[in-house]
Amino acid sequence: MSFVDVVVVGAGIAGLSCARALADGGARVRVLERGRVVGGRLASRRVNGRYVDIGAAYLVADDPAFVEQTESWHARGLARPWTDTLRVYPAGTDTRGPVRWAAPGGLRSLAADLADGLDVRLSASVASVESVSQHADAVVLAMPGPQALRLSPPPAITSAAASQSWLPVIAAVLTYPARSWTGLRGAFANDHPVLATVCDDGDRRGDAAPVLVAHSTAELASEHLDAPTRAGSIIAAAVGELLGITAPPEIEVHRWTYAQPEKASEAPYARDGQVWLCGDAFGRPRVQTAWLSGRAVASALLSG
Ligand SMILES: Cc1cc2nc3c(=O)[nH]c(=O)nc-3n(C[C@H](O)[C@H](O)[C@H](O)COP(=O)(O)OP(=O)(O)OC[C@H]3O[C@@H](n4cnc5c(N)ncnc54)[C@H](O)[C@@H]3O)c2cc1C
Repeated sequence: MSFVDVVVVGAGIAGLSCARALADGGARVRVLERGRVVGGRLASRRVNGRYVDIGAAYLVADDPAFVEQTESWHARGLARPWTDTLRVYPAGTDTRGPVRWAAPGGLRSLAADLADGLDVRLSASVASVESVSQHADAVVLAMPGPQALRLSPPPAITSAAASQSWLPVIAAVLTYPARSWTGLRGAFANDHPVLATVCDDGDRRGDAAPVLVAHSTAELASEHLDAPTRAGSIIAAAVGELLGITAPPEIEVHRWTYAQPEKASEAPYARDGQVWLCGDAFGRPRVQTAWLSGRAVASALLSG
């Protein structure tokens, strides 16, 4: 192993899986995260005394290594199989697919589990690659390309990051006085002008709280990125109409400027010398891809 001292920038699932695998392989690794908590888009926010998932809605695991990781979380009570059945609107019919995994403590608890025992520094925003590369053998940027571009990365990383294009989402947490819907679990709203998905947070978390989380279309999010609060009431009205809920909810919104990469790269990561870029743009845009991308960088570093 020629790389012994690695700085990982970003404590989302990609950065944490990378750091975990590096530490397990004997490297010295520091994770620098600009946020106050780990998880990135694997995000759970406390609303009315309970965690609500405001980023990723669930996990799907079909890669053997990620299946093993998911089973480890399951065995320790951190993750649970939620549902294989989601509703599709406008037809209102149920569709079966892979098992979707949820987390009783919120999906961010899975990131916190990966971070356990690692050297993770929070509220540590990195301004440039240069500012950290002087103190490390390798630097791993584990984040969406547009965020990596702000760090003046070397040419091959700049080129890979600039080739990504990203779509925004506004997430609305809708807390109702009572559960007035039945049998929903989660839904895709196809061709809807406002909604992309609606999930029953009380059902996926297992506490039956009267809370739905809706994700907007990219179009609605683009129109309201500067003032997302207004989008909250539009999303709440659309959910009420879709599901026939008349009670007004309490509304909290979260803006994801870089929610989803539009097209997948076929490579598992990008590299320029000792600087690496990983995350969910390197495959289908989902948690498993980010986890695998981070691990792939760690594996390349450890065998380099
Ligand atoms: C609304 C929404 C719904 C989704 N639904 C699903 C789903 O149902 N299933 C699924 O599998 N996936 C879903 N996803 C995608 C999933 O959340 C992502 O694929 C995954 O979490 C990406 O992880 P990451 O580590 O690549 O990036 P991120 O989670 O974005 O992590 C990047 C980290 O880098 C940090 N950072 C950035 N710049 C700096 C800097 N300069 N200095 C220090 N730190 C920095 C950020 O703060 C962040 O913590 C969804 C995402 C969103 C937003």
